[in-house]
Amino acid sequence: MTTAIRTWLTNARVIDGRGGVTERAAIELDRGRIVGVHAGEGLPAPTDATTLDLAGRTVMPGLIDVHVHLSSYERLPPILRGEAPRVPELRVFELANGARSFLAGGITTVRDVGSEDDHALLLRDAIRLGLCPGPRILTCARIVSATAPGGVIFGSMYREADGPDDMRKAVREQIRRGADFIKIMSTGARSVVYEDPEPAQVTRDELAAVIDEAHRMGRKVAAHAEGLGGARLAIEEGADTIEHGLSLHRAPDLLDAMATKGIVLVPTLTTFHDVAAINADHYPAVLVEQAKRQRDDAYLTLAAAHAAGVPLALGFDSWPPGADALELVRMVEGGIPAKDAIVAATRGGAVACGLDELGVVAPGAIADLLVVDGDPLADVAVLADPDRIHLVLQAGIPVAGTAGPLGPAR
Ligand SMILES: [Zn+2]
Repeated sequence: MTTAIRTWLTNARVIDGRGGVTERAAIELDRGRIVGVHAGEGLPAPTDATTLDLAGRTVMPGLIDVHVHLSSYERLPPILRGEAPRVPELRVFELANGARSFLAGGITTVRDVGSEDDHALLLRDAIRLGLCPGPRILTCARIVSATAPGGVIFGSMYREADGPDDMRKAVREQIRRGADFIKIMSTGARSVVYEDPEPAQVTRDELAAVIDEAHRMGRKVAAHAEGLGGARLAIEEGADTIEHGLSLHRAPDLLDAMATKGIVLVPTLTTFHDVAAINADHYPAVLVEQAKRQRDDAYLTLAAAHAAGVPLALGFDSWPPGADALELVRMVEGGIPAKDAIVAATRGGAVACGLDELGVVAPGAIADLLVVDGDPLADVAVLADPDRIHLVLQAGIPVAGTAGPLGPAR
């Protein structure tokens, strides 16, 4: 099974990532790709292939989280008085540890929307080189922002730039660094006391320069947009994804434009719960109160965007790594049918990332798959329960799950 040349996954319910379901199906894998999805019972299992009888479990594409901050995950407790200081290199092991946790949670692809220094690039390349297990990673490298109070707080996560030419240079610097896409702060951030997340924080010319430079060089653009000022500029100038976007329920014309242009909304409901309640102790009261209002807005926008036909993607924007499906549970609690929320967490994420070969169970796709005990369409919370994650495959190879790291059949 470790080399996974030809494998048949039989006796499975298949959720295809596009909204389709096939009962009692068999999935045929060959050299890391899906080559067939066969409906119905009684298929003869080929004798020259490994067969995994999934006993009625559900197979779906691995989850894709398009809004993570890889360097924000800290596992180590604070240093106590008298303990030796920790060398910065320990961060590398912390990153690797988090990467493994994503796989255990069934998340096979993440899009990093801003990390300190070059941590996300480092982890991405280590995983690609096979130095540690982890999800496929796309990263923006540094976040492009106008000179703003957030630059003081977020330090090396930001590349501050002013004026269209400097913005263009900032984009080029991220591409030079190895960025897979570009992230731009079209408004300020809700987590910074001195930033007002309502107005646009860049000019139209600046944003247009960022998007033009990124698109010409084949990179998508993720726009952080809380207030309508920045969201409007980002949508009109053709950003590819809107991060947070919580105010959009007040602007049906913008939601219609997103649906028409195929601009993806990443609602990040969990982050508002975090600041408003779960981690409220860690934020000044003014930000906690703002987050409560924003949480209400975010749910209204989720429903309005779904009704308007805006493509959605899952963005947890929280921690710990591997618990990302909690965002999926919240999308369903917010009124999105489980079928559509699962599309957001699979194919929707692949679209947001521009990864055509991921997020579906269909011939030709890369076999990044999740096998779960139970039916997520009936109870989406099974995806947030690590004990129900039976098997996780990356390009056809078992990498995590309760069935064991090498899978049940060898
Ligand atoms: Zn974020």
